[in-house]
Amino acid sequence: MVDVFAKCRLPETYAIVRELGVYPYYRAVDERPGGGEVVIGGRTLVQAGSSDYLGLSGDERVVEAAVAAARRLGTGSGGSRLSNGSLALHEELEGRLAAFLRRPAVMVTSAGYLANLALAGLMGPRDAVIGDALVHACLIDATRLAGARLRRYRHNDPAHLERLLEAADPRAGRLIVTEGMFSTSGALCDLPGIAKLARAHGARVVMDSAHDVGLLGAGGRGAAEHHGLEQAVDVQTLTFSKAFGTIGGAVAGPRDVIAYLRHYARPMVFTAALSPPCAAAALAALEVITAEPERRARVRAAAARVSGELAALGFGVLAGDRPVVAVPVGDDLLCFRLWRELFEAGVFTTAMIPPGVPPGEALIRVSVTAAHTGAQLDRIVEAFAVAGRRLGLL
Ligand code: PMP
Repeated sequence: MVDVFAKCRLPETYAIVRELGVYPYYRAVDERPGGGEVVIGGRTLVQAGSSDYLGLSGDERVVEAAVAAARRLGTGSGGSRLSNGSLALHEELEGRLAAFLRRPAVMVTSAGYLANLALAGLMGPRDAVIGDALVHACLIDATRLAGARLRRYRHNDPAHLERLLEAADPRAGRLIVTEGMFSTSGALCDLPGIAKLARAHGARVVMDSAHDVGLLGAGGRGAAEHHGLEQAVDVQTLTFSKAFGTIGGAVAGPRDVIAYLRHYARPMVFTAALSPPCAAAALAALEVITAEPERRARVRAAAARVSGELAALGFGVLAGDRPVVAVPVGDDLLCFRLWRELFEAGVFTTAMIPPGVPPGEALIRVSVTAAHTGAQLDRIVEAFAVAGRRLGLL
């Protein structure tokens, strides 16, 4: 007989990585003295791995809104959206998001992961779901939940997407799934290419705007606004865990689609609704995102500076003004060693290895936020310069 627990042994590489002292995960932060810094084990480090891009998680207005909501409505919602957990606050947030995003309807979920998982409700087992090779795990999981087959096209390669669309069963529905700004590389999706093919093949387009809402486009509506192609995206998903500085997510799209998902998306039916403090924080953050476009300009200027300086040092980064700056390393262990060098130098980054990235494409992910000071940005670049030379990467 086989014990199901028998598999619960981490591979030997984990032990080696720990022995070398380069294990980068589950590092507990003790304090967050400011958005740009964290205290870990008594040391103050530059936080270079946070998706709190606009620095709103510690913003007084956002924090006060969360506190007031907890006092008025409690810390939990007490039930799923469908049953007893829906609050007028959720509906207010949905209305304000719909107006902000210029989409007919929005439904709020308890996490960005769940917003994408909710899309399983749109996917039938016979539908052709065709996604960029780098789409986030939660879009992949939606296809698994739906029992739909996901076909993946090479990252940002419309010619490959076209071949997959042509090969799809003509009687099946077609859904193209992409991220607006890819979370691991910081690259923008090729929306013009996707839009053209979607039109030609009668496909619907889903864009996960987790990393671009609040940051891209003059109005902060994300990558589709940046491209001037908002109409080409049928359904847009977002998360409150990044630019909004809290937790939660949303699906925005046509009224009938959202009304359907409210009943058929499992995250609306089988998990508790977003907590009042998080819903109120998202609402307050939305106000800041709308009223203070200079915040996104600041992040993008800071990102251009960091990516430009890392590129000038000789790292193979995509220079540009995207707040995700991916520093390619390749080998997993080398990635961990670089992470450790940076950590020792006082810079807390994210080491990404498979399955977060394709095999052999390990990278250090740096995220730049509005909370970083010029001195903190300098520390990030300087740490990379020193570590890169020590490890022979430069
Ligand atoms: N989509 C993308 C592209 C993401 O990067 C993430 C979070 N890493 C999510 C969705 C999930 O969002 P959340 O953290 O709100 O569950």
